[in-house]
Amino acid sequence: MIPLIGMDAEELRAVLPAGEPAFRARQLYDALYRRRVSSFAEITEFPAKLRERLSAECSLGRLERASRFESRDGTRRYLLRLADGRTVEAVFMPEEARDTLCISTQVGCPVDCKFCLTALMGLERNLTAGEIVGQVLHLAEDNGLWARGKRINVVMMGQGEPLLNLAAVLKAARLLCGPRGVGISPRRITVSTSGIIPRMAELGQAEPRPKLAVSLNASTEEQRRELMPITRKYPLRDLIEACRAYPLRPWERLTFEYVLLKDVNDSDADARRVVRLLAPLRCKVNLIALNPGPGIPFETPAPERVAAFQAIVKRSMPCFIRKPRGLDIYAACGQLKRMESGLAAPGS
Ligand code: SAH
Ligand code: SF4
Repeated sequence: MIPLIGMDAEELRAVLPAGEPAFRARQLYDALYRRRVSSFAEITEFPAKLRERLSAECSLGRLERASRFESRDGTRRYLLRLADGRTVEAVFMPEEARDTLCISTQVGCPVDCKFCLTALMGLERNLTAGEIVGQVLHLAEDNGLWARGKRINVVMMGQGEPLLNLAAVLKAARLLCGPRGVGISPRRITVSTSGIIPRMAELGQAEPRPKLAVSLNASTEEQRRELMPITRKYPLRDLIEACRAYPLRPWERLTFEYVLLKDVNDSDADARRVVRLLAPLRCKVNLIALNPGPGIPFETPAPERVAAFQAIVKRSMPCFIRKPRGLDIYAACGQLKRMESGLAAPGS
């Protein structure tokens, strides 16, 4: 069965039988991405014969839910089943103005950050563009976002390192931003990277281009090498240089994420070094107090320490504290490891 979600208009055209008029591909694109049909039977503008043929050879490629966990704070963590039987995680975070969908780009992650649960899985495989788009469609539909006209933010901050699967990530972004399809603005999509320097330049040329967040997580070369061994391959100095060379659009700032680990990278001196590192850049900083997990050898700093760190950085650039969402169901940053625990939602 060939999955259709993930194909662009040209690929859909090639799937249709030869001799079908060109507008059929446009109708199929509309059905998949704008109307988001749940069965071939709903594509009523197609002749019955064509629908039958398509459903014999293709699947829509929608992702099925394996389980769903519901947090006290309204966050929902999903395990979605892929065609090969593996599962991947995505998180829905309701907010007043707009809801945020945190989606995965790989099953597991090959980057070995010492504070992250996903790292313990290793890399199982890359996700396809269809599987990345499929997470957005599933979560938006399951939470009634289309029906309620809710505005959507997409952050590629789930499992995986997006810049190690950049072709699929960019294709997914094109499909999510398609004005005749899903129609999400590229300003509302953020890709977060651990700092895969050569791919950053490539992302900088993409069209449409999502926003970029960089996981800094340390204030010195040595400290970053310990926490994020990938720094040996892509040094902090070069990363900052790549950020300086990154072609920001006039309205845009880079986002830096900084996971605070008690007594490791959370001192006032660290905060001052972060300011010095980032001073030449148009950016903002999001602080994340460590979300703990089994096998993670670090502790969460006290809220006062987090606030003191923020106060120092804030003098020089916008700096926010990211509120943990869904901590009780292993849905927060760095906690995605397909935990089968947490309170299952009724009916899931
Ligand atoms: N691989 C990408 C995107 C996924 S990780 C990246 O690393 O940027 C998303 C964010 O979660 C990153 O900023 C990462 O530093 C942060 N993170 C990882 N483990 C964490 C943990 N245990 N607590 C808090 N944040 C964590
Ligand atoms: Fe991978 Fe990001 Fe976790 Fe590092 S923090 S192991 S890059 S998912």
